[in-house]
Amino acid sequence: MYGASVKLRITNQRWETLENLHGWPERQIPIPHTLVRVPNARLYELADGAWGVVLEGVVAWVGNLAGDNFRGEWLEPEVYLHELMDLDVESKASVLAFVQGLGALQVEDIGTPWSAGPFWWGRSLWKPVRDTEEVSRRHADALGVKAELVVSAEEFRAVVGALRDAARTLWALQGVIDENALLELWEGPRGVFLDSGILLTATLRTLDTINAGLRVFSPRIYRGDVAASDAVQAVLYNVLCLEMFNDYVVGSEYRLCAKCGRVFVRQRGRARFGENKRKGKVIYCTYRCQNAAQQQKHRDRAKRLKGTEAGGGHDE
Ligand SMILES: [Zn+2]
Repeated sequence: MYGASVKLRITNQRWETLENLHGWPERQIPIPHTLVRVPNARLYELADGAWGVVLEGVVAWVGNLAGDNFRGEWLEPEVYLHELMDLDVESKASVLAFVQGLGALQVEDIGTPWSAGPFWWGRSLWKPVRDTEEVSRRHADALGVKAELVVSAEEFRAVVGALRDAARTLWALQGVIDENALLELWEGPRGVFLDSGILLTATLRTLDTINAGLRVFSPRIYRGDVAASDAVQAVLYNVLCLEMFNDYVVGSEYRLCAKCGRVFVRQRGRARFGENKRKGKVIYCTYRCQNAAQQQKHRDRAKRLKGTEAGGGHDE
């Protein structure tokens, strides 16, 4: 059904902006719709205070891009703009809840940047991530469990940081935030910014991050109800990259929520999947923000009316 490719084509070696790159064809790729959570994930703590998560249970998303043969939950749209951004990587409870609710962010050898390398512009960009991977190995040894099931806090932070940096770079390319804000918010290694412009460097890094995550969604063919035996295997990292890819190739407009300031594309809540408000004048990121803003308006109006009745009209 969907024979789409997710490769980005490079048409200009100057790499000035992402505008020279196109998804082919320029349309969205369906998000795999089976979500396998990791409900048994648990936190661990080592004697030296280091901590991380053991991904016990099923760790991968398994989805057929044609969507006929798997039944599961739809993911809320734009997890990369909501849950990913809200995540507090310093909080053990926040990290655990994230993994248990949304699935493993990354699993060794599935679709993560350091398992997909090397990259032609040098591995050094990813060295910090490779280091954190070694930390996870040490943790696994200390715990006596398989290394691929252990995610150290360092590794988790590195992956979250790479994804958030990529998302913010997409905002910066649209002018939603400026270069200085991008640099200030940058969570990855800062050494990469020494030589070239901020946006160019951030863009290169973003291509790395997103393209590595897209590799699992290779071109495929389907025929009616006949399923291919090799279902797409992806983890949350891949899916978040696919979300960013989709928003990029269809030219989604990033906007700031008038209530909470979040960057968003579609309004969440009160809509069935695929029907989330996107076009027209949407100024709130969620139905909750819209509702809160409306109630605030009511309260303000009530206060003004009360002030008028009292004849004073003075503010509190
Ligand atoms: Zn909001």
